[in-house]
Amino acid sequence: MKGFDEWVRLSARKDELKRVGNGKWRLVESMSPREVIEDEQLGVVTIGDHQVDGFIDDVRCVKCDRPRVYYDRYDAYFCAECNLWLEGACTDHSCDYCRDRPARPLGEKE
Ligand SMILES: [Zn+2]
Ligand SMILES: [Zn+2]
Repeated sequence: MKGFDEWVRLSARKDELKRVGNGKWRLVESMSPREVIEDEQLGVVTIGDHQVDGFIDDVRCVKCDRPRVYYDRYDAYFCAECNLWLEGACTDHSCDYCRDRPARPLGEKE
């Protein structure tokens, strides 16, 4: 029997996420060779060589229509496929989240 939470999760994103282990979900990629795997228990999303605290969201990127990823450290959503922030930084100069935010969520090289 599936737990209720898991069932809801599967129903919401069944086309996009493939279960690859206990509490682990792989975002099925259409064009990128980069693997995106969410570990629900650790609250970590692995994107190729990158590891970020967060989760794969139900809402999609407006550019590529892939589910966006929440980046806990910067309190913002981004697209792993486009390597773009999907939210602008706030204008509060004392905000610790936005002050240290890099131009690209996964770095410039990719
Ligand atoms: Zn995108
Ligand atoms: Zn901020």
